[in-house]
Amino acid sequence: MTDDVVGCLACDLTSGRRPVPGGVLLEVGGWRVEHCVGPLGVGTLIVKPVRHVRHVAELSDGESAALGPLLRRVAAAVTEVVRPEQVYVCLWSHDGGTPGHLHFVVQPVTRADLDRFGVFGPRLQLAMFDAKVTPDETAVAEVSGRVRPVLQRADQPG
Ligand SMILES: [Zn+2]
Repeated sequence: MTDDVVGCLACDLTSGRRPVPGGVLLEVGGWRVEHCVGPLGVGTLIVKPVRHVRHVAELSDGESAALGPLLRRVAAAVTEVVRPEQVYVCLWSHDGGTPGHLHFVVQPVTRADLDRFGVFGPRLQLAMFDAKVTPDETAVAEVSGRVRPVLQRADQPG
């Protein structure tokens, strides 16, 4: 498997071929944390392997061991910064119906999100994708600036 695939959005962001909105938030244990570029709201983060891995079953032992603590750490950081009612953590990674570079979405969901769209769970994500409101660049930079020090704090689990 090639570790870096030109034209893969996740790889293009990791390699610097495309700019990362808000900048890299954390890189640890073979994983990279960035702000989401899709329409899932300000504060929604992506946790993806640095390598071009398309299936959870193909993660290395090291990547697997780092995953649980990292997901908890990222969820804790968005909880502290965004103060959501719930944090969704999910992985679809089926790019156009083809297995794509896997990435967990860590989405802080606020009461305002629920009130705005009137739905929750997968229906909320679908409604947000249908609305196609990509996060404002300034807001992404602002929230990234607040999340980064929380994520990188030495006393964080993981
Ligand atoms: Zn990739």
